[in-house]
Amino acid sequence: MSNSDQLRRHESDGFTCVHCKLQVPGAAWGTKHRNHCPACLHSRHVDQTSGDRASPCKGVMEPIGIEVRAGSRDGEWAIIHRCRTCGQLRTNRIAGDDAERALLALALRPIANPAFPIDGFR
Ligand SMILES: [Zn+2]
Ligand SMILES: [Zn+2]
Repeated sequence: MSNSDQLRRHESDGFTCVHCKLQVPGAAWGTKHRNHCPACLHSRHVDQTSGDRASPCKGVMEPIGIEVRAGSRDGEWAIIHRCRTCGQLRTNRIAGDDAERALLALALRPIANPAFPIDGFR
């Protein structure tokens, strides 16, 4: 409860997750400004362009899929978010401490619920 604690909290630019209410610190390995929750991967529509915090929407950004960035040798992953309020789509690089289980569940979602029979591929 000291002044230095408040200062530090402001500097780290953390936030409370809109979905699972986790207290998320701002700094994370592998990302400069974290914009999604490492546990449930939800985000908030605060940016008009990446990092500007200028969007008036403030809607919940739901993770809907995984993108593998083209041209990255080690298959860099990004999360595709869709805003529940205005429908805007946005991709965000994953952070080093994002929950791998949640990322995998997202990546496997279309495989777990195929829109066509996949028996023929076996
Ligand atoms: Zn969360
Ligand atoms: Zn929005």
